[in-house]
Amino acid sequence: MTTTENRPTSTPASTPQPTPMPGADVPVQAEHLTALHSSHTRVEREVTGPNGEALRVPVSRVGLTNGETFDRYTTSGPGSDPEVGLPPLRAEWIAARGDAETYEGRERNLLDDGRSAVRRGEASRAWRGERRAPLRAKDGTRVTQMHYARRGEVTPEMAYVAAREGLPVEKVREAVASGRAIIPANVNHPEAEPMIIGRDFLVKVNANIGNSAVTSSIAEEVDKLTWAVTWGADTVMDLSTGDDIHTTREWIIRNSPVPIGTVPIYQALEKVDGKAEELTWDVFRDTVIEQCEQGVDYMTIHAGVLLRYVPMTANRVTGIVSRGGSIMAGWMLAHHRESFLYEHYDELCEIFAKYDVAFSLGDGLRPGSTADANDEAQLAELRTLAELTERAWEYDVQVMVEGPGHVPLNLVPENVQMQQDWCHGAPFYTLGPLVTDIAPGYDHITSAIGAATIAMHGTAMLCYVTPKEHLGLPNRDDVKTGVVTYKLSAHAADIAKGHPGARAWDDAMSKARFEFRWHDQFALSLDPQLAQEYHDETLPAEPAKTAHFCSMCGPKFCSMRISADIREKYSAARGDDAGVAAAEADEALAEAGMAAKSKEFVELGASVYLTPEKAGAAKG
Ligand code: SF4
Repeated sequence: MTTTENRPTSTPASTPQPTPMPGADVPVQAEHLTALHSSHTRVEREVTGPNGEALRVPVSRVGLTNGETFDRYTTSGPGSDPEVGLPPLRAEWIAARGDAETYEGRERNLLDDGRSAVRRGEASRAWRGERRAPLRAKDGTRVTQMHYARRGEVTPEMAYVAAREGLPVEKVREAVASGRAIIPANVNHPEAEPMIIGRDFLVKVNANIGNSAVTSSIAEEVDKLTWAVTWGADTVMDLSTGDDIHTTREWIIRNSPVPIGTVPIYQALEKVDGKAEELTWDVFRDTVIEQCEQGVDYMTIHAGVLLRYVPMTANRVTGIVSRGGSIMAGWMLAHHRESFLYEHYDELCEIFAKYDVAFSLGDGLRPGSTADANDEAQLAELRTLAELTERAWEYDVQVMVEGPGHVPLNLVPENVQMQQDWCHGAPFYTLGPLVTDIAPGYDHITSAIGAATIAMHGTAMLCYVTPKEHLGLPNRDDVKTGVVTYKLSAHAADIAKGHPGARAWDDAMSKARFEFRWHDQFALSLDPQLAQEYHDETLPAEPAKTAHFCSMCGPKFCSMRISADIREKYSAARGDDAGVAAAEADEALAEAGMAAKSKEFVELGASVYLTPEKAGAAKG
């Protein structure tokens, strides 16, 4: 295995530099860092793929002050100029398989960018980078990772994720073949670094971005994307609902080193001016193909919300809280017909198999309050999602299943157990869940509690929740807080599940902590900047970065210093081995003393309270 190193290619987090875009009023900025800290270096380890390809698998290597290094999983990608986009890492692997072909693609329609683009006669900030003709499977073939895995083939994508996870490639292939894991990898998103979502792998985190009719711009969304992956988002969902949906997504996909997910019903609704009853299968299908051609890797499809389930929500405290669920419920009630998503599901499977788009089967009836958790509507929909999972697998289409929502802590484990049993181990992808409803402003924490618990029990991917949940569209600070909070939940679950290597990170941090290597503690943190800022608040001087205490307990009461002193005392007095022997001898002496006292207690009648006579006799 060889390695190459890329030093951080972008600016420090505190000094974002604008990237000018011709003709734009406000330049697109993107903090596409490849490192969170000056001691982090992106290193690409070269491993050999199944066909002899050289796969360059990235890690973030942390250089420590004691001369050691620690490698962290990285999602930040190699860094890009937002106007140019990322290089097509997977293009050669896809071409070498020979089962996909380019075609003219669907005709571009200004309505793809909303009614204001139609009025203006153009989309704002059109993508000016490279445009590739779309790819799809040749007639009679399927190009999904599940298809290859079921044929017993190891793809470069599988070898890449095995190296990233530090696991055998056969474990990856077998998990993808059985449906217990997915590798979201649209053939039209070759820029993405392959990753895997499944209960036997590292728990992944999704960050939602996207504009709304009220606020945000393309520039802000591209910035949020790069910001989210810098902090560790494993996938990003573009949930745009306002203007310029198509163009915003183009910018996002071309600059994204992680898989991109969407909820296509949002864009379809924009195309019918926000009137749910005017949605049709044709509009929806066309929107799905538009997004397949652009390179969306997974799509949330609310095909499990059936007409007969809608009345089950009538007595809920918070009704239907999923946007997709409420749109489909509105359509079904307006037409009094079964969902067109359910009725045309097989056609959707055929489309997804042509591009390798994975289903994220939406939980349109998820509970929006702890009072509604695990109710009849939620579980009825889950039964249908299980049926849809098996139907997609008949087409070799990869599937994950979405889950709640708001769930009291005691009901969290059974949510994942039911999903895993009913859906035959298909990856579970949950939003939180929030374990109480009372903390707007702190819902990243409310939900991180549920997220760590549900992930420990087998949820494969967690959709982050930001402090703005229930209150407003998250800004970039909220995105960072949400991602970091969820990386924490995911890692806690990885340790609990015993993922190989997960504990090593904690051990490296604990060692740095016990040895008072403060700079290493910052470098190893999920958020190095914040950790250092907090330390600097009270002890900003450089000598404090090697001091054997911090301001929390102070020098006299630092338990770790006292503990280190005790060790030092033994080793300094007698040498390391002799020190250990002395400690063992002291321990043996203490044991003997305890045994003598125990014997005395029994001989004096085994009474807790002694009379003065007995106590005197004992002393004498
Ligand atoms: S002073 Fe207290 S908090 Fe700070 S390093 Fe020592 S034991 Fe830890």
